[in-house]
Amino acid sequence: MSFDLEIFSPIHAWNHQVFAEKKLKVFIKRDDLIHPLISGNKWRKLKYILQEAHRQQKSHLVTFGGAFSNHLLATAAAGARFGFKTTGFVRGEEVQNNTLFLCRLHGMNLIFTNREHYKNKPALFESYFVDDTQAYFINEGAASPEAVKGCSELINELPTVYDHIFCACGTGTTAAGIIAGLQQRQLPSLFHAIPVFKNGEFMRQEINNYLDTPTDYELHTAYHFGGYAKTTTGLINFIKSFVASTGILIEPVYTAKALYAVLDLATRDYFKPESNILVIHSGGIFGLLGLEHKF
Ligand SMILES: *Cc1c(COP(=O)(O)O)cnc(C)c1O
Repeated sequence: MSFDLEIFSPIHAWNHQVFAEKKLKVFIKRDDLIHPLISGNKWRKLKYILQEAHRQQKSHLVTFGGAFSNHLLATAAAGARFGFKTTGFVRGEEVQNNTLFLCRLHGMNLIFTNREHYKNKPALFESYFVDDTQAYFINEGAASPEAVKGCSELINELPTVYDHIFCACGTGTTAAGIIAGLQQRQLPSLFHAIPVFKNGEFMRQEINNYLDTPTDYELHTAYHFGGYAKTTTGLINFIKSFVASTGILIEPVYTAKALYAVLDLATRDYFKPESNILVIHSGGIFGLLGLEHKF
């Protein structure tokens, strides 16, 4: 059996008055269109992990995430699609929400775990599944060399060489994959990482750990909007006007922060005129449900 989804991730122009004034061409890679639930970078990250699980003849994927985790939902949906049983350890006390509902609907067994126990994921895995020879450990957020490899393939899909490529970062795995892809193809594009939480400087170490050879890239740590899953009125207003003027749906946890960064940097004359810029829409728009009260 081959574990593959047909990748549908077109590139759309993002037109904005500021970009016209500064003579910039800005594009969005629509990884959000890859799959409604196994969306964006989550499919790229899981692809080789699923292949490896299958190679080891494991039929039960076990992974970890918060109650709103896009990764848990992607694993549940990918498991259902490709014939794996799935278990998700959920951080914190038992709750109910749209994400967890859809995880369950795709057959995922959810185990709510207090924050103390959640910290030691290998120990949790051992204590529950020591006798399950079918169980396969997948790290939180699928952070792994297999995920980096999967994300590096995004670069093969680009029709042209962009001067700048932007992506939001949680674990930094996707960022590392994109950088590795640029290195493999020896492309001169400058990569820009946008950490979505406070004090994102440590992201450089996370990313570098995955790279064989060090490389130059930019880390912009000022676009966290208060921290992980935090928003401001400015970010919400940006999302409203972006969605209404482009027809491209985005969410406030990841992609909106990367897109906002590009617009802000353009306003500040960060880019040379005639630059062409690519922003990765890493998906996750399902996470909008449950955030209605912020809009
Ligand atoms: C998980 C996720 C990210 C973060 O990816 P990392 O590889 O963990 O950095 C970015 N965007 C979206 C929409 C996500 O769901």
